[in-house]
Amino acid sequence: MKKLCFATNNRHKLAEVSQMLEGKYELLTLQDIGCHEDLAEEQDTLEGNSRQKAEYVWDNYNVSCFADDTGLEVEALNGAPGVYSARYAGPQRSDADNINKLLDSLQGQENRRARFRTSITLILDGQQHQFEGIVTGSIATGWKGDKGFGYDPVFIPDGHERTFAQMSAEEKNAISHRGRATQELVRFLKGLEV
Ligand code: IMP
Repeated sequence: MKKLCFATNNRHKLAEVSQMLEGKYELLTLQDIGCHEDLAEEQDTLEGNSRQKAEYVWDNYNVSCFADDTGLEVEALNGAPGVYSARYAGPQRSDADNINKLLDSLQGQENRRARFRTSITLILDGQQHQFEGIVTGSIATGWKGDKGFGYDPVFIPDGHERTFAQMSAEEKNAISHRGRATQELVRFLKGLEV
């Protein structure tokens, strides 16, 4: 079976993609390939960051791999926090601080439109491929729900009344930015002869 590294330290993401690949590829973690460092994300776009991480693995370990990067883009904030979503409220990368800063920034704001966007870069035998997933929605006026992570308690996807944090993982993954980007990746990989 062909081996493919997912350049993440998030076990939950790994299990999710592994299940979607239905045994067509053997997914390796960063640890599996002997990479024990945090991969740098120094670019000013999501695409740049997913590419930087995938290229780092390919260049240093010579293993086919893919990496992702996600941002929350808020219309009234001209697309912020975007690529800086994890560090929006500072280098402590606290989900609670980030959400509080976001709610403060949108205080009294009528336009609460937002979207999550995920970029995935795949490097397969040296060839690069990019995939994207988007979910549009709006920012709630307060916290709701205790599932998920990140900005989930304040993001209400279009067509729903509940936040991502009020949904089961299955329900969220079926419509989420990362779920959609991953489906694109998996569709591509399954279409190849392995
Ligand atoms: P990463 O690219 O997955 O590391 O995520 C970057 C930032 O977006 C972090 O602040 C995450 O908490 C947030 N984020 C990523 N995916 C989601 C999600 O599915 N729901 C809520 N927040 C997310």
